[in-house]
Amino acid sequence: MHKNQHLALSYNFLIYKGYSRSTVFEKEMGQHWYLPNEWAEILMNPKGFRLEELPQKLPTYKQEEIQNDLLFLRRNKIISPTINSTTPDYQESINISNYFIDCCSVTISNPVNKNFFNTLRNFQSKRLELYFISKSKSLDFTQSLGNLNFETLAINLDYNHFKKLNLNELASKIKKLSAIRIINTPFNHSETLNRIKIQKIKKDSNHEFSFKLLKLADNDEHNQYYKGRIHINADGTIKNAPNSLNTFGTIYNTDINDVFNSQDFQEIWKAKKSKVDVCSDCEFRGICIDKRPLKKRPNGTWYSTEDCNYNPYLNSFKGEDAYLTLKECGVESTKQGFKILVDQFIAVKTERPNAAQQIDLNQNLL
Ligand code: SF4
Repeated sequence: MHKNQHLALSYNFLIYKGYSRSTVFEKEMGQHWYLPNEWAEILMNPKGFRLEELPQKLPTYKQEEIQNDLLFLRRNKIISPTINSTTPDYQESINISNYFIDCCSVTISNPVNKNFFNTLRNFQSKRLELYFISKSKSLDFTQSLGNLNFETLAINLDYNHFKKLNLNELASKIKKLSAIRIINTPFNHSETLNRIKIQKIKKDSNHEFSFKLLKLADNDEHNQYYKGRIHINADGTIKNAPNSLNTFGTIYNTDINDVFNSQDFQEIWKAKKSKVDVCSDCEFRGICIDKRPLKKRPNGTWYSTEDCNYNPYLNSFKGEDAYLTLKECGVESTKQGFKILVDQFIAVKTERPNAAQQIDLNQNLL
């Protein structure tokens, strides 16, 4: 290896830094090794490193130890030479850490904003979600993402723009593709094609149910939709999620790493349902992924200006006979607080004495 050689963590490896040591995982096979934290810090730098820098970065190491470690890392393909690491493209790219992000979602417009490629290139995100908002050739863009630092790719499309899409072809072209979600389809349908989960959704919803949430230890403490997620709009604006109201600068004028790690940005991760109006009264809160924009009150409670499509006070979903909006049944959830207008509520409840009290097992919740 030449001393000027530029190396970096290989794309299919992830590092978790611990208190006294770190673990590096190979993503395909799940193989793992332990590393001293000094090495992990070097490998976690998305810009990689030069061999000549190592004695300075590892001051307590002997030259021979560094050589042995390098051989070990190369032999196991944990590090590899970087390509064009000093090209203007790379230099100009935003300095994003390779902290482990649960989900990075990006809205893709037509033409595709090429700056995204530089931004995404330095991410180490478990899941990449792309939202295609217009009719476009922009899907071609996904084929160039295969070597980026994420484990799985999910794409979200609107049927109105991609009616003629060949799902089989798409599935075979994009290696890490794990899910395709198509909204505004003529009917609801779910299937698995080449291990890719395909969901066709007639009407998109601002929340969805997943029984997998029940297995998460911190489901009660965090909002599982927002937690660990960062979103970049088509114009480069940074947000918590596609529907979020708050913005945190753009990828052009803000260090996305600072945003992701800031308290302001992470606040919504802890919007646990017991503190969210209405959800705290909902029997589905343990399986619900709530995607609505949420706002926090000074007293630590949360509310949303959007209803979801379930009314827990009437045990009914939008479209069912017994359904009314929250407002229609006397439930008020605003910046000022939560209240139930008792007379209106009792009148509504009196008219609907037979609202279902438990999950109808025939109902398709997912
Ligand atoms: S009220 Fe229930 S179904 Fe609606 S978003 Fe909250 S937890 Fe989900």
